[in-house]
Amino acid sequence: MYRQASLFGQSPGLVLRPDLSRRLKLLTEGSRFDLAGSCAKDPLGQGRRRGPLGRWLYPVTLPNGRRMTLLRTLLSSVCFNDCAYCPLRVDTDPPRASLTPEELVRVFMGLYRRGLVQGLFLSTGVFASPDVTMERLIACAQILREKEGFAGYIHLKVIPGASREAIATAARYASALSLNIEVPGETYLSRLSRKKDFRRHLLEGLAEIARLKERLGRPLSQTTQFIVGASGEDDAAIIRTTELLYRKFRLNRVYFSAYQPGFGRGDLPGEKEARRGDLRTREHRLYQVDFLLRKYGFRAAEIPLEKGRLPLDTDPKELWARAHPEFFPVDLHKASYWELLRVPGIGPTVAKRILAARRETRIRNLENFFPNQKLLAKALPYVVF
Ligand code: SF4
Repeated sequence: MYRQASLFGQSPGLVLRPDLSRRLKLLTEGSRFDLAGSCAKDPLGQGRRRGPLGRWLYPVTLPNGRRMTLLRTLLSSVCFNDCAYCPLRVDTDPPRASLTPEELVRVFMGLYRRGLVQGLFLSTGVFASPDVTMERLIACAQILREKEGFAGYIHLKVIPGASREAIATAARYASALSLNIEVPGETYLSRLSRKKDFRRHLLEGLAEIARLKERLGRPLSQTTQFIVGASGEDDAAIIRTTELLYRKFRLNRVYFSAYQPGFGRGDLPGEKEARRGDLRTREHRLYQVDFLLRKYGFRAAEIPLEKGRLPLDTDPKELWARAHPEFFPVDLHKASYWELLRVPGIGPTVAKRILAARRETRIRNLENFFPNQKLLAKALPYVVF
């Protein structure tokens, strides 16, 4: 009999063999660099949020708005790739670990049956060819679906360079697939990796997932992630590529993850900016732009930039409003939904409340429409009613 250790300390933790618990700790911590698949950050962009148990169980909001807790882990932290921003790249020597698909399934089902998680986010280092690595990921999902009868959320990472067949098999078992684009073009990728090819390994994989979504006959979520700041790219390139990804591949979400200083090769173009803490603010501004593109009807070309960069000190929508005095004031009794959304402080919920209210009566007071005074104060200089 081996001594048992609790992965999550106090009950209601799942009790595991010490060796399995140690490997799982390494693998769940290794997966924290990948956000694609969930909003695993707090609303102010101040840092990654952990689950209530203090380990890498993530409370997340999925692209469709559903909230749940995911077990987020790597299957293996062994990797032959050379991504310069990643602490697991081949030329580093961190403690590495792997799980078999059976071990992963046992851990997941243990947590699931105790009500601690509702879904799985599974990624991995590339420990063999892309297709062999994919086979191992797919085996986990297949056992969960076919042997354990798990019908819930499974997010699988697609390995760059995986074949069409491997992606199609993954799609059979997954609720969501993500393939991380990381950078906005070939030039930037060549600064970070000599092994990855932007078109063959990334764009073709993204296109294949997009094609599968059409044919599958059931919803399959597709997401991707940029690693912000590592390659010296500017925001203009990220914003243009984000718009293209939504248009061409109908992605459900694009995520942005600030390069974390000290984890990469050390000579990366973004190292200094990351040490100043500016990349987290950039990440936050990029999420605001993402909302403007997805929900507010903005086009990439309308986003205000200074020398290709988003100003860090002001919300991009506020900057757009200041630069377009001809658009304001907006008349709350006449403006369309999309015109209301151009007003700083007004988001989809407030815009809908205003539209509903003005069908009934004249608007005399704005206080009840806004969730807080700060948003109301932002909107007031730009509206008449
Ligand atoms: S493929 Fe790149 S990002 Fe993924 S684990 Fe390997 S080195 Fe890190």
